[in-house]
Amino acid sequence: MIIQDSAATASVRGVLDVRRRVAEAAQRAGRQADEITLVAVSKTFSAADIQPVIAAGQRAFGENRVQEARSKWPALRQQFSDLELHLIGPLQTNKVAEAVALFDVIQTVDRPKLAKALATEMLKHGCRRRVFIQVNTGREAQKAGVVPDEAASFIAYCRDELRLAVAGLMCIPPVDEAPEGHFALLRELASSQHLASLSMGMSGDFEAAIAAGASHIRVGSAIFGHRDYPA
Ligand SMILES: *Cc1c(COP(=O)(O)O)cnc(C)c1O
Repeated sequence: MIIQDSAATASVRGVLDVRRRVAEAAQRAGRQADEITLVAVSKTFSAADIQPVIAAGQRAFGENRVQEARSKWPALRQQFSDLELHLIGPLQTNKVAEAVALFDVIQTVDRPKLAKALATEMLKHGCRRRVFIQVNTGREAQKAGVVPDEAASFIAYCRDELRLAVAGLMCIPPVDEAPEGHFALLRELASSQHLASLSMGMSGDFEAAIAAGASHIRVGSAIFGHRDYPA
């Protein structure tokens, strides 16, 4: 109990601290802090870990796995009605129905087959979830995302043909490179496609992302602390 309480205190301190840094970074960039949505990435943390952060006023959360989200969020949503849940990890087409049921925003649309499956599922339920197109700005072989050269045609397919509610673009820069060039590339691509939202920036680089125009930052460890992954 004591351990849980101190973890809760730490995550509340974490979210308040990140909020302050967001406000400061926005001010330095001549932006309004409320233009930036802080998506608190709660993967690997339990509902009990998440609750104090919600109680501290945080409303947007990110999870990277459908199955894990299913185990935590339906109960939390019953307690708090105004939460916004973002899927920020890769989505397999066989999990599309569940993802559409669980998440408000899907940030990782990166291939025609997935886009088509999402469109079909949303049409079936008469719902329209916002989506982001994930761009593999570093052209990394192991990373998800459409490559920059194919972004325009894929966006057109999602928006015009499938009628998906494409809010913007998302990227995860290579870990071993300065993120600024990737943020700038994502911003250019979004601007050329008249897309308003940019999901970029994590614990280590969200201030740089805000300077580069991020509308959504995805911050995990700076709020919840170090993650322990199950073996
Ligand atoms: C885990 C994760 C984050 C958060 O990473 P931190 O460095 O802990 O802030 C952001 N985006 C994606 C896609 C993630 O999987």
